[in-house]
Amino acid sequence: MVREDEIRPAERAVEWPDATDAGLIFVGRIRTPWLTRMTCPRQGRADGPVCRIEVFEPWDQCLHGVSDFARLEVLYWLHRSRRDLTLQSPANNGLTRGTFALREPVRPNPIGTSIVHLIGIEGSTLLVRGLDCLDDTPLVDIKPDRTLFIPLAPPTPGDADIGEP
Ligand code: SAM
Repeated sequence: MVREDEIRPAERAVEWPDATDAGLIFVGRIRTPWLTRMTCPRQGRADGPVCRIEVFEPWDQCLHGVSDFARLEVLYWLHRSRRDLTLQSPANNGLTRGTFALREPVRPNPIGTSIVHLIGIEGSTLLVRGLDCLDDTPLVDIKPDRTLFIPLAPPTPGDADIGEP
């Protein structure tokens, strides 16, 4: 269920700290057809509408070579999210999960990520499919899709144990 700004039963908010640990620079903005959270998809789809990622100067220089990649990982700042919830009930049904167990936009650092398909490039604007953010969402970063990269180091004994209970 899409939230506006309410705290639901079974959710918990914390006091927001005075200071921040890092400064971000928004390197562009994302133009999409979605003006409200109610109409915005929960996750992007490869067959979704073509959206525009406008990269600001001087960061447009960072686009050099991007056309070599069919898929990109886009990071964006979900600027209309509240940031103070530690426990959430996305379905508002009394069931609660910690924020780090959810992909909800509501999080202390509201960074969203999508794997997008590069459709075209017009100057400093990327045309992509696969986004799920509101129109005018600030752009944080763009990277080649990590699954296109092969790890440089060969597997070492014990690698398989990582992540196992
Ligand atoms: N794909 C990203 C991820 O997994 O990190 C974001 C997933 S999040 C569930 C997508 C939802 O965030 C949308 O359906 C919309 O309700 C909300 N949303 C999109 N853009 C937003 C923005 N700029 N500010 C706040 N909420 C936003």
